[in-house]
Amino acid sequence: MAEEQGTVYLVGAGPGDPGLITRRAHDLLGEADVLVYDHLVHPDLLQVCRADCEKIYVGKMAGQYSVRQEKIQTILVEQIRAGHRVVVRLKGGDPLVYGRGGDEARHLREHGVAFEIVPGVTAAAAAAAYTGIPLTQRHTSSSVTFLTGHEDPVKGTGVIDWPRWGALETTLCIYMGMARLADIVDGLIEGGRDPQTPAAVVQWASTPLQRSCRAPLAELPGRVAEAGLGAPAVVIVGDVVTYGENLNWYEERPLFGRRVVVTRNRAQAGELRERLERLGAEVLEIPLIRVSPDHNESIWSEILEELGSYDWLVFASANGVKHFFDYLLKKHPDIRNLGAMRIAAVGKATARAVEAYRLTCELVPEKATAEGLADALIETGSLDSAKVLVVTGNRGGEKLISRLESEGFAIVDRLPVYKTELEKLDDAPAVGDFREKGADYIVFTSSSTVQSFAEQARSLKLGPSAKHPLACSIGPVTTEKLKGYGITVHVEPKQSNLDALVEAIRAHAAG
Ligand code: SAH
Repeated sequence: MAEEQGTVYLVGAGPGDPGLITRRAHDLLGEADVLVYDHLVHPDLLQVCRADCEKIYVGKMAGQYSVRQEKIQTILVEQIRAGHRVVVRLKGGDPLVYGRGGDEARHLREHGVAFEIVPGVTAAAAAAAYTGIPLTQRHTSSSVTFLTGHEDPVKGTGVIDWPRWGALETTLCIYMGMARLADIVDGLIEGGRDPQTPAAVVQWASTPLQRSCRAPLAELPGRVAEAGLGAPAVVIVGDVVTYGENLNWYEERPLFGRRVVVTRNRAQAGELRERLERLGAEVLEIPLIRVSPDHNESIWSEILEELGSYDWLVFASANGVKHFFDYLLKKHPDIRNLGAMRIAAVGKATARAVEAYRLTCELVPEKATAEGLADALIETGSLDSAKVLVVTGNRGGEKLISRLESEGFAIVDRLPVYKTELEKLDDAPAVGDFREKGADYIVFTSSSTVQSFAEQARSLKLGPSAKHPLACSIGPVTTEKLKGYGITVHVEPKQSNLDALVEAIRAHAAG
């Protein structure tokens, strides 16, 4: 018996914000053997696919037309015939709203290929939600109509009877209407729509590039041109636009419209990115350093032998915590091998990393620096002849250790567990974007990121129309390093932690 044939899933990716994809769609991305995707699909969604998933791009290429619809349909059938089980055809928004999903489903049916359809948040719904414009409203609008401003060139112009739609009291949502906006507005008014009808254009809804503009219908094309809005955008026409006037929550967020460069290593950038994005910032990730495990077997084996005899275990960074426990638990899966030592962490983030192993930190200094940690440990009065294990990376730790020895009279062992290297910038995807447009802020969370920045300044040279970003530093040590390279620090929080840093950027942006 022939093996059962695979299925093509026609899946909506949502309007832009990757968080707006459905759970069903997300699950299917994770299962996909083949992904066939479009121009408006967010790059983060492609990361959900398995590494061995074949990704076929059928969207617009720069300066070219998209792959023809018939060709896409042929590709879908071919992928199934080639024996693939899960073929995901991912489209922006909803597959059945101006998405040719119907054509694809018919083609698959005609060729005997099984399919399923997964809906997505369509652009009009996102444009409405992300500007606070209700599409229907009691007493104001009881219906909503989706229209396309892009007319089929084969059928000639004038296929859509704009005056007819102008005569109806309904909320209009016009897709693909930007190129012919003035003609569309004229047609609607000709049909009887009041020129003063409130109208709006929402570009790139639900993404950091979202911009919107509201104006009476007759004035909309001029205002849109002034504001420089372009495709992809949805035009909304109706009294509901007035209703939503003060509800523009998304664009009112404190960092909305600000570009912020995050320079932390890839594994740690996400935390900071998320915090900034929640406040509305557009985040460019340009990792300037790379952190990888780096264990010295002979140091480890000496330390493991006497692990139970240490009085203090001191973590100088969250990276140290991760790589220390990764190694330790691989060799000795029983956490009790740690013994009854006390634990110190340089700051809150490091302490949280320790607590994730259900261990409590006895000491976390107020001032989250090596100096602060040394002061606090010495102040405990417990160091005289005590055995202290300091977990570090390949750089740093020297000052901390020498103070514990010379001022606290401790017996200190240093255990390096990771190394920090400068990340080569050449092929980082956000780098080109940064050179072209610049940013409002660039955030440094360690002195190694500063060093990497200074050493690779040529790769990050800004173009003539790029905005020069203001430097933000997490704390005094990083600030010193920046000053050493002649870089002015515009934002530095009183406390050296991520929350305080993000809050300081928010306060600076508020002016
Ligand atoms: N299937 C998609 C529509 C594809 S047609 C959906 O359901 O949303 C492409 C048009 O959709 C664009 O020209 C624009 O009018 C609209 N569009 C898509 N994404 C958008 C976004 N993030 N913001 C505003 N309009 C968008």
